[in-house]
Amino acid sequence: RLAFENICHSFGPEAETLRDVSLAAEPGEVLCLLGPSGSGKTTLLRIAAGIESQSTGRVLLNDREIAGPSVFLPPEKRSIGLVFQDFALFPHLTILDNVRFGLTALSGEEARREALIALSRVGLEHYAGSYPHVLSGGEQQRVALARALAPRPAVLLMDEPFSGLDSRLKDNVRAETLAILRESRATAIVVTHDAEEAMRMADRIALLRDGRLVQSGRAEELYLSPANLFAAGFFSELN
Ligand code: ATP
Repeated sequence: RLAFENICHSFGPEAETLRDVSLAAEPGEVLCLLGPSGSGKTTLLRIAAGIESQSTGRVLLNDREIAGPSVFLPPEKRSIGLVFQDFALFPHLTILDNVRFGLTALSGEEARREALIALSRVGLEHYAGSYPHVLSGGEQQRVALARALAPRPAVLLMDEPFSGLDSRLKDNVRAETLAILRESRATAIVVTHDAEEAMRMADRIALLRDGRLVQSGRAEELYLSPANLFAAGFFSELN
């Protein structure tokens, strides 16, 4: 379980990015952070990952404080996996070595075995010796997912994971990703600005606007009982 408690953040006196945000991703659930550009979604993920610091508030991972007024656990000690928008694979490393990259704590042979297990979980073990450029966008996304899942993180954070994909591929890759998350029983936080994507993926949605949490709840709750006009507007184009 990853919990944010009363998180405030600003990039300077004039730029408040997050205003007293409290929310949690429960074990095994996919929580979507939904909101327009600039609402603070990415900043919240970066705070969870330890690559940005809040000004006040706390972050807890399975009830242990990982960031707070007097605690800061460095990113590599957080048991958190990351998948970025552009997949961020190393072009000069094989697929296997890309996945092994997150397994530096293990010995060579163990790391290789775990990396192959992670690749087989996303159905790509036959590409182990290939380089990223021979893979389609959807396959590269799965390699990024395998790399993030390989160390068996407590929580997986994904920032707009499908926005770099061709729209024809998107639906498929999203469904595949969701199936992999379910099979791995991963706890995941997925950032998106796309209400339809959130509806398709999320167990729960947290809707943000201008750094504030507008509403959180099950997808159909937000759709059927929006808290205000902003929330209603966000879902109005869906059917
Ligand atoms: P997007 O989908 O566009 O990435 P977002 O909801 O993820 O939006 P953030 O990226 O968290 O929003 O940004 C929140 C606010 O903080 C925005 O107004 C943005 O311009 C500002 N911001 C982000 N990074 C910085 C930075 N390094 N320095 C100053 N302001 C920043």
